[in-house]
Amino acid sequence: MRSNNPLQLTLAILKPHVIKNPFALQKIRQLILDNDFKVVRSRRTKITFSEASYFYQDHKDKFFYNRLVTFMSSGPSDIHILARDNAIVRWRELMGPTKVYQAQYLAPESIRGKFGLSDTRNATHGSDSPDSAKREIKVFFNDFNIDEWFDNEEIYFKHEQLKFDQDLFLHIIDKSLKPLPS
Ligand code: GDP
Ligand code: MG
Repeated sequence: MRSNNPLQLTLAILKPHVIKNPFALQKIRQLILDNDFKVVRSRRTKITFSEASYFYQDHKDKFFYNRLVTFMSSGPSDIHILARDNAIVRWRELMGPTKVYQAQYLAPESIRGKFGLSDTRNATHGSDSPDSAKREIKVFFNDFNIDEWFDNEEIYFKHEQLKFDQDLFLHIIDKSLKPLPS
């Protein structure tokens, strides 16, 4: 991630069927790291029906809304705040198209192409704009202050003064490391 562009944050969710499949979970985690995303926050939680309803409120009139909300609250999900330059677009590229047959046909190497099971169980979520990233981060990381992160922590992520905790699946600031020359 050695770029001078500012970092951007996005909200990623690894949906319940991925968490039930250790092989898929491991492969997706590896793709996150291989594609230079830094993991700023991680939590595993069973999203409640009301959280899922609120999270997907823009889709409340769609035919798939009820099955989507039911699925998203059916078991634990891994929820991450990811950082990199152009994170929103890059994460959505890595995920591939929403619809699983399109993903398999048009982007077979994408996360959804590889690990999507159906249009509902399409493996992952990613914010689609800076405004939705802000809203979505608030839903699941209520105590995370985006402005404070950019003021106080972004610099360490940008200069990769970080250690990675495999168990927590989290990058942690390590101020003992010298910044790399930019
Ligand atoms: P995303 O931003 O790519 O996740 O797609 P959307 O915001 O349009 O839809 C939100 C989620 O609803 C998707 O990730 C799918 O899980 C689900 N979804 C979207 N379109 C369909 C559909 O046509 N059928 C079904 N069953 N689920 C859908
Ligand atoms: Mg969306």
